[in-house]
Amino acid sequence: MGVPDPAGRPGRAPRILVTNDDGVESPGLHALARALAELGEVTVCAPEAEQSAVGHSITTRVPLRLKRVALEGIDRTYCVNGTPADSVKLAIGRLLTDGPPDLVVSGINLGPNTATNVIYSGTVSAATEACIMGVPSFAISLATFVDPLWSTAAAVAERVAGAVLERGLPPRVLLNVNVPNRPPDRVRGVRLTRQGDSSFVDALEERRDPRGEPYYWLAGEYRMTDTDPTTDALALQEGWVSVTPLSLDLTAHHVLAEFSRWDWDARHP
Ligand code: MN
Repeated sequence: MGVPDPAGRPGRAPRILVTNDDGVESPGLHALARALAELGEVTVCAPEAEQSAVGHSITTRVPLRLKRVALEGIDRTYCVNGTPADSVKLAIGRLLTDGPPDLVVSGINLGPNTATNVIYSGTVSAATEACIMGVPSFAISLATFVDPLWSTAAAVAERVAGAVLERGLPPRVLLNVNVPNRPPDRVRGVRLTRQGDSSFVDALEERRDPRGEPYYWLAGEYRMTDTDPTTDALALQEGWVSVTPLSLDLTAHHVLAEFSRWDWDARHP
């Protein structure tokens, strides 16, 4: 597939940046890069160490370094001693010197990124960073922590990438794709969803270090309290690929009118 050329010449191969939050050694990243290499010229730039749940964190107080690493089948593979958002910034700012890529894809994450998890997700934040920079992007996650069927998600990534390269995305919108961990013939299809409301119920484990001082370990479990059929998590649970369009605009538009009735200008006596 080629990207349309403004001068009407035959399309060139799309340039695709692949990143993640599980780190440059993640098999999910490798499966994604190899699948997308079928569509165009892939550059990989990912965190050197796992960065799950760092959200949209960026590194501003220590220097960032880019390192080239070997990945079979993908010539241009790099890692950064930073976050997913850092990786996208460095790749677009320093590696892709011929201009921004046509597409940024983040994943394939080990574990789903649905409902409130989207807020914490480094995987989604890498795609968000690309969106901020004006590049079409999506995040893709596989809904399991054990026995991942990467090839199912890789095939979905290739299809979604093809569609986005062909049609583009509306400005300031990215896609959050979640794939059930099933063989392809048991995936029911694609469902367009909204971000659900379920979240982690936090547990703070307190332990003692060898000096008797307390320390804390963030734990907790995901509790599916929102089982509305239009949500990402439910579609996934029922065996569908969930595609949720996300917006950079976090404004709660549905309550603007309500707040306009507040008396904002009243002075305290
Ligand atoms: Mn992760």
